[in-house]
Amino acid sequence: MTDKVILEGTPNQVLRTEMEYDAWCKGALQESISYYAEEVHTLASKNGFWEDNPSDGEKIALMHSELSEALEALRKGDPPDDKIPEFKGSEAELADCIIRIMDFAHKKGLRLGEAIMAKHEFNKGRPYKHGKEF
Ligand SMILES: [Mg+2]
Repeated sequence: MTDKVILEGTPNQVLRTEMEYDAWCKGALQESISYYAEEVHTLASKNGFWEDNPSDGEKIALMHSELSEALEALRKGDPPDDKIPEFKGSEAELADCIIRIMDFAHKKGLRLGEAIMAKHEFNKGRPYKHGKEF
């Protein structure tokens, strides 16, 4: 990847190689996740979701519940969400799940963005379907 390309939307639309752009995206994603995880956690705390010291298991169960809501939305033909109707139900419920994960990660000091990048890089070297049936 040596060809220089102009990538619209990058800072000042600078000339970058794909490799430079990939590195920039990874850094931006990590920073964005950290930034929004803090913002999400601040709001969740303000709204009382960390009162009474909820257990890790309870928080993870609530992440699961959002995935179940996404599944139910799909089972119903994925109609517009009732709170943000410009989005499908599945989009809103998956967003809820990510918001809960970000809230938890910030509270626990987890390096979510870095872990996503590390796991994605690791997965690049894994076999088809990671050697499993599905
Ligand atoms: Mg929900």
